[in-house]
Amino acid sequence: EAMLRLTGIEKTYNKGQTGEVQVLAGADLTLAKGEMVALVAPSGAGKSTLLHIAGLLDVADAGRVEIGGEDMTGLSDRRRTAVRRQEVGFVYQFHHLLPEFSALENIVLPQLANGVARKSAQARAQELLEQVGVGARAGHRPSAMSGGEQQRVAFCRALANSPRVLLADEPTGNLDPGTSDQVFGALTGLVRGTGLSALIATHNLDLAARMDRVVKLDQGQIVAG
Ligand code: ADP
Ligand code: ADP
Repeated sequence: EAMLRLTGIEKTYNKGQTGEVQVLAGADLTLAKGEMVALVAPSGAGKSTLLHIAGLLDVADAGRVEIGGEDMTGLSDRRRTAVRRQEVGFVYQFHHLLPEFSALENIVLPQLANGVARKSAQARAQELLEQVGVGARAGHRPSAMSGGEQQRVAFCRALANSPRVLLADEPTGNLDPGTSDQVFGALTGLVRGTGLSALIATHNLDLAARMDRVVKLDQGQIVAG
């Protein structure tokens, strides 16, 4: 069962201008339900562009994005935003947590925005934090946490609304190797418990090898890793 399907994705920046650069040239990729796939490629190859298109943050010039079997092509902006909020979780290299809120509140807020009652949002946030081993840090602000802890909280926030697809752009890129390993273990634990499909861009080949499958971006197309 396909959870995320990208077909013939094309993207050119600065089209028709000086500095025109074709980044994606017919990229095809299908993630089955529950599958964790590593996306490996050199810097500038188009990983972020592909993740943004897959996550409905950017629109391709051509091609189709399907999430949970639903074709996202031609949806209104309003519907795209609604689908993105419900179905897609994002994690970046930098945590992007809100600095003036506690770890718990950072995970509660997206749930409130999605119409969840505060009590159940708090319970879910606490449960997620415990699953990644930072339950005791729930009341701390991001600045009082280590880089690895911050990133664990960012994973919890990405999963707060139980999306079906997780997109991660170098999620351990800022961490030292030992911490990367532990934080990746926490992410895997979260993903494996849910049947979520995850596409994870990484330069870390050891981590990539621990996923179900590795793919590469080569000349704007997806090839087996
Ligand atoms: P990666 O994530 O693999 O490093 P990106 O998707 O960030 O690759 O970028 C791919 C290429 O597209 C790079 O050459 C980058 O400079 C260019 N690029 C990315 N975003 C833009 C943009 N908004 N406008 C123009 N060029 C861009
Ligand atoms: P990463 O490789 O981690 O995605 P980048 O520095 O390539 O980081 O990109 C950061 C942001 O800047 C992205 O949103 C990307 O779209 C944008 N960007 C990258 N290259 C360019 C560019 N040449 N012109 C305009 N925007 C760009």
